[in-house]
Amino acid sequence: MTGPERPHILIVGGGYVGMYTALRLQQKLRRGEATVTVIDPLSYMTYQPFLPEAAAGNLEPRHVVVPLRRLLPRTQVLNGRVTKIEHSRRTVTFMPNAGDPFEISYDTIVVAPGSIARTLPIPGLAEVGIGFKTVGEAIFLRNHVLAKLDIAASTSEQSVRRRALTFVFVGGGYAGVEALAELEDMARDASKSYDGVEPSDMRWVLVEASDRILPEVSADLGRYTVRELERRNIEVRLSTRLDSAVHHHIKLSDGEEFDADTLVWTAGVKPNPVVEDTDLPLDEKGRLKGTATLRIEGVDDAWTAGDSAAIPDLSKKEPGALTGPSAQHAVRQAKHLGDNIVAAMRGGTPTDYVHAYAGSVASLGLHKGVAQVYGIKLRGWPAWFMHRTYHVSRVPTFNRKVRVLADWTLALFFKREIVSLGAIQNPREEFEQAARPALPPQEPAAPPAPSATEA
Ligand SMILES: Cc1cc2nc3c(=O)[nH]c(=O)nc-3n(C[C@H](O)[C@H](O)[C@H](O)COP(=O)(O)OP(=O)(O)OC[C@H]3O[C@@H](n4cnc5c(N)ncnc54)[C@H](O)[C@@H]3O)c2cc1C
Repeated sequence: MTGPERPHILIVGGGYVGMYTALRLQQKLRRGEATVTVIDPLSYMTYQPFLPEAAAGNLEPRHVVVPLRRLLPRTQVLNGRVTKIEHSRRTVTFMPNAGDPFEISYDTIVVAPGSIARTLPIPGLAEVGIGFKTVGEAIFLRNHVLAKLDIAASTSEQSVRRRALTFVFVGGGYAGVEALAELEDMARDASKSYDGVEPSDMRWVLVEASDRILPEVSADLGRYTVRELERRNIEVRLSTRLDSAVHHHIKLSDGEEFDADTLVWTAGVKPNPVVEDTDLPLDEKGRLKGTATLRIEGVDDAWTAGDSAAIPDLSKKEPGALTGPSAQHAVRQAKHLGDNIVAAMRGGTPTDYVHAYAGSVASLGLHKGVAQVYGIKLRGWPAWFMHRTYHVSRVPTFNRKVRVLADWTLALFFKREIVSLGAIQNPREEFEQAARPALPPQEPAAPPAPSATEA
């Protein structure tokens, strides 16, 4: 797999950190200086900040992902999961998407498998909830919400309608708020084409355990966002927890109970548990312990960054401050990490990563948003415009920038698509029915055998 004469750099995870590190190495390494491998179950990197717009149909889902093989022609891309890292043996166990697992050895490793949803043992959550982190979930939710409008428009049974038109989101960070706001905007717009479904028939509920939403922006912008959502009849339940969701029956900690077909869980993230199956040091929250140079603490030839790492935030004065899980840090850390690996390989000295968090931008639907960047606070249209400008400047590759701009431009002139392609969730269903062998014609039931006494 690797030439024995070349050092092998193995990158676990092809997301923000993995992709940008590989890209940096591709740019900085001389031909033949090292072999770089990226391992990820997916063949693409997802630009997660665009997922809410993909769910709302403002962006084509394919345009919010970047194909790794196209972007990284000088990098080996393997699709599957790393299931174990034995750094003392400089070996990972790789489980390809098909076939048997095998070991891959390396000289230098970058561990960046990101985060997964942080869930709680709430009855019914695992059965009826869905997360919002992947392009698959975004596509599913778009089809699902439109399918619920289809259901409501096709029945007069009030309990079925109410349940179909009730949408619950748990978690008031930017992922949850943006996903809810964009989908509600899309559904309200779509309802104009539905006979018998009015925006006021829909119930959108945001449940947040703390006393505020959007902790990434200031408290007054958080309050503004609550007001903006409430103005759109979205219920914002602060200091409230989801207690149960068994059979889609939602129970909240404030005592309210109701049925909802849709439950989206966006209440925080935790480090990908694959980092537990390693001999690398973890902190009390299960993150890899990183240093300011992005090396893993106390070991040679191992580096980390992004959501699965605890990296000191040198831009802050408080001792023990860590960089938060955000794309903003992940991209910058990845570039820095690539430079440090090259420096270390060539006998140089890796430098510290320092970046003061610039702020956040969030879209709340078409022409609506909230932003706080370098202390400047924006609301409404200017914030939404900044959100779009910022993200189109950040989405990787010129190709993707053009496609995203084309999607937005087309959306100016044409109405949104309101078709629910729910069938793509189970594309073989119809064919399976057609291909199933026909049942033999039913024989008329045989008369009961005469009993001995009747004979
Ligand atoms: C909906 C949403 C909106 C967001 N919006 C913003 C925003 O506006 N601004 C902002 O700064 N941040 C935003 N974020 C957060 C940002 O996307 C993350 O902080 C960033 O993606 C972290 O980068 P990462 O490389 O650590 O993880 P990821 O980008 O998640 O990459 C991890 C990769 O590892 C792969 N992987 C997982 N397990 C394995 C394994 N066992 N073996 C190999 N590979 C594995 C995964 O498939 C994935 O590709 C948003 C997140 C979401 C979900």
